[in-house]
Order: sequence, then structure tokens, then C-alpha cells
Amino acid sequence: MFKDSILSAKDMGDDIHDVIIIGSGPAGYTAGLYAARAMLEPLMFAGYMSGGQLMLTSDVENFPGYPQGIGGPEMMMELREQAERFGLKVEDRNVESVDLSERPYKVVVEGETFLTHAIIVSTGAESIWLGAKGEEEQKGRGISTCATCDGAFFRDEEVLVIGGGDSACEEATFLTRFASKVTLLHRRDVFKASTIMYERALNNDKIEIKTFRQIKEWLSDEKGLTGAVIEDPRDGSTSTIAATGAFIAIGHTPITSFLDGQVETDGEGYILHKKHTMTSVEGVFAAGDVVDTRYKQAITAAGMGCQAAMDVEKWLEDNVE
Ligand code: NDP
Repeated sequence: MFKDSILSAKDMGDDIHDVIIIGSGPAGYTAGLYAARAMLEPLMFAGYMSGGQLMLTSDVENFPGYPQGIGGPEMMMELREQAERFGLKVEDRNVESVDLSERPYKVVVEGETFLTHAIIVSTGAESIWLGAKGEEEQKGRGISTCATCDGAFFRDEEVLVIGGGDSACEEATFLTRFASKVTLLHRRDVFKASTIMYERALNNDKIEIKTFRQIKEWLSDEKGLTGAVIEDPRDGSTSTIAATGAFIAIGHTPITSFLDGQVETDGEGYILHKKHTMTSVEGVFAAGDVVDTRYKQAITAAGMGCQAAMDVEKWLEDNVE
């Protein structure tokens, strides 16, 4: 029904897409795969750094179907290849803004406007920085949020990892490939990390775990980072620790600024689902870490991407003539 009319609209030069997918992690690629197989001719704007956070992940061991584990970037390439095989069109460009005030919706990419009936937002989340004194000057020098990207710069050096979740434990373990010593600093003595990740860090001889430690200030000289002043949050006492590299792994924040408040979010900026995977705006759907305040796994993101594509298909059937 809608298919014929859309095809004819396209034939007439009114290039209105059925669905544009914004963002390219497991949620986006899975949505793309399902939408492509549903013959919706999906167009994805993958961003300059296509693939999302898994591009920054060393080994993925908990995605079903990979008994030996798989590198994050390799898995993203495979997901992309699989979706492209069925017709997902991917452009590695960033979406600047969207206009959801009337249908068809407008998606603006480097000044170029694309029209679409439906949108799936799967932009994921980005790392949070600590914001401690001296951090800005050392960003991209001694201080990083990505061990996979920057770990090799710290061969035979002593580094810090900050955080108590899976990311911190994973990054600490990964960094032992390069660093002579890794000190994991956590602000309390209970870890959010899964037992397997925590124990892997705990049992690694190159990792020392220090609890009740927060970064108060980063220390540096003209060559770069030299360490940090750390504080015990229980009594405010301070001490210094030496390190030439530091990796902040304290969580992520959803990427939604391009939506400019047009879609309802919670207090922390996560997009809210209103009906299944549809957001507060009719025809605008969301999937993956941009929505997920709880699970944040590649497999759950992929599952939600599938749900969003199926919801889009049904919504188009019901709403687009
Ligand atoms: P989490 O939210 O799980 O953990 C963040 C950690 O950082 C917490 O321990 C938190 O402390 C600490 N923290 C937060 N803010 C500050 C601050 N200002 N100063 C000091 N410490 C702070 O984030 P992750 O990125 O680790 O994980 C996110 C999700 O991704 C999780 O669901 C995780 O399971 C998943 N993940 C899975 C992986 C895998 O399975 N391979 C790998 C990496 C992540 P506190 O505990 O006190 O709140």
C-alpha cells in the first residue's frame, strides 16, 4: 500500500525516505538489517566515527555466536556488511540537526536536507569525563577515555584507571598488555562491574586496586602527566600518586544534542519510549544506549534495534499513505 505510493513519490523526484537511521552501533546496524529486509530502503547516517563505542572495545566475549570472542571493530564491520548485503545504505556523515515540527521530517547532514517519514535514533552514548582540575590541558595527551585507542602509547609506563564498572575493569586488564603497572582507583569499595570482569582485574598481578580514592587534581609538568592528587571521600584526606597516563572509565552520557529537545528525554538525557520503541514524536523511534539506562549491552542494543525496525514497519503501514 504505502510502498507503491512512496515509490511513485520517489519516481516523481520527491525523495522522501521511508526511514533514516541515525547512528551506527549494534542497535543501528540491526535496525538497518531488519528495515532493509522489510524492503524499506533504509538510509543510515553512521557518523564520522561509525560503529559507535564498540569501535573502542578490544574483545567482545558476551555476544552470542562468537564462541572465541571477537574484536569490537571487527564485529561492527560484520554487522555493517550483513545489513549492507540486504540493501542498507550507509553514509559516514554526522547529522547536524533534525526538524520534527512537521512531516515528512527533515534530517540535516552537512547542510544537506533529507526528508523521511520515520527516523530511528541509535546514536548511543559518549564517555563522561571527570572534570577534575588540570584535566582539560591533559586530554588527548596523558588523559584518555579509551584504552583501546591510546593504551599502546604507555608502554612500560605506570597508568591509572578511574571507575568501578565493567569499563574500568576491562580497560585496566587491557592496559596490562602495555603498561608496567595499572592502578585502578574507585571512589567506594563496592564495584558495579560484573564478577567475571572484576575478578579478572583483581587476579592480574600488574593491577593494583585502590578503593575510596577520587581524583582531586591532575599533576603535570612540561612533558605531560606526572600523576594526581587523590582524596579519600570518607575523611577528605589526600595523597599523591605517580602516573604518566590515566584512563577515565566512569560511564557514558547519551548523544542527543542534535535533537535540540524535540524528543522527550529523562533528566539525564536518555530518550524516553512512549509506545514500544516510539518516542514522544510520532514516527520517531529510538534504540540502544541512547535509551537504555539499565542494560547497555551490545546484545540488548541489537535486540532493541530489531524492535525499532519492526515498529517502524508497522507504523509506516498504518500511517503513511
Ligand atoms: P557504569 O555506570 O557501570 O560504572 C561507572 C563507574 O564509574 C561506577 O563504578 C561509578 O561509581 C564510577 N563513577 C561515576 N562517576 C564518577 C565520578 N564522578 N568519580 C569517580 N567515579 C565515578 O559504567 P561502565 O562504563 O563501566 O559500564 C556501562 C555499561 O556498559 C554497563 O552496563 C556495563 O555492564 C557495560 N559494559 C560491558 C562490557 C562488557 O560486557 N564487555 C564492557 C564495558 C561496559 P559508583 O559505583 O560509586 O557509582
